[in-house]
Amino acid sequence: MSEDLIGVVNAGSSSLKFSIYQGDACLLNGQVDGIGVRPAAKAKTGAGEALPPPDLSAVPPTTPAEALVALMPWLQDWLAGRRLAAIGHRVVHGGPNHAAPQRVTAALLDELAAFVPLAPLHQPHNLSPIRATMERNPSLPQVACFDTGFHRTIPEVAQVFALPWEMAERGIRRYGFHGLSYEYIASVLPQAAPEIAGGRVVVAHLGNGASLCAMKAGRSMATTMGFSALDGLPMGTRCGQLDPAVVLHLMTAEGMDAKAVEALLYRKSGMLGLSGVSSDFRDLLASDVPRARFAIEVFVHQVARNVASLAAALGGLDGLVFTAGVGENAAAIRQAVCEACGWMGVELDHAANAARGPRITAAGSRVAGYVIPTDENLMIARHTRAVLG
Ligand code: AMP
Repeated sequence: MSEDLIGVVNAGSSSLKFSIYQGDACLLNGQVDGIGVRPAAKAKTGAGEALPPPDLSAVPPTTPAEALVALMPWLQDWLAGRRLAAIGHRVVHGGPNHAAPQRVTAALLDELAAFVPLAPLHQPHNLSPIRATMERNPSLPQVACFDTGFHRTIPEVAQVFALPWEMAERGIRRYGFHGLSYEYIASVLPQAAPEIAGGRVVVAHLGNGASLCAMKAGRSMATTMGFSALDGLPMGTRCGQLDPAVVLHLMTAEGMDAKAVEALLYRKSGMLGLSGVSSDFRDLLASDVPRARFAIEVFVHQVARNVASLAAALGGLDGLVFTAGVGENAAAIRQAVCEACGWMGVELDHAANAARGPRITAAGSRVAGYVIPTDENLMIARHTRAVLG
């Protein structure tokens, strides 16, 4: 079974990432960006060598499902007669009842489609490539891996909003996201950071989307994202935690409708909205524009405040782990967060931080800090293989 090739698909609203795994080895990585606008594909081997990308110019895909279909001839060429044993998909929302990865059936797809209103910007794009594959190749097993699944261990007190109880029963509660990333980190902690793996750890997944997860012995106990992937930390273009009265004000006093508020909160806020410069941390760190600096300060302030909030949920803190694009690459951001968390016992080793760790705190630091690269696609490949059994 470990010799079988597993495809991994991670589809978003305007991009589709794909990989092929054999065992834990990644053989192929690619992505189509700009779907619906100006689609462009790129691909590289697992070792990072660029490959001639798929040519999508004949019929430019307008949806992630069309992108996957358009990729198929190129993938068939690459496979050169070998066949995929299955495709694993990242599905953002498993709702209250689906935590463990599951083989996709038509019935499961219908059930997952019911969660589209809970994640309107992600769920439809996750499901449409599954449906398209099922229609074209019904015998190819597909597995749905849920980003909410890892957080089902969160105690109920940390899952509910203080709304009328019936609302929680209707599914209006905190779910949490980035679960595949956190699950990967939890899986490698015993080797990568054995002294904290069994303890109280906050993992900071800081990328274009950003959240924190409080783990006790590798299990999720609290997280900053909630009902949607909008809550918690400010992100590239998402606002993060917001007083709900702001939304009421925008709708009642400023006449914005739901679509306009959605566009504001998901696409025009966060680092982009604050800085007026970019949603990309590389641009912000390189910028002299004062509001770009200020946006980074707001981000660091919120990360540090929320680390403390999650440490409270854990009853203390033994470890702080940075991961994802910003967490793995931006030493200046890690330094600022660690300094703001100094009062909790985080004592940075500057040279180790500049060298990307993996351990970035001083020998005597009460809290051990680490940089650990995440790998959501490998997690999906492992789950898919396990579900195939
Ligand atoms: P992700 O969503 O995990 O792919 O992370 C994307 C974010 O990581 C973007 O905001 C990038 O600017 C940021 N990023 C990637 N590389 C670096 C780097 N070397 N320094 C700072 N930020 C980076």
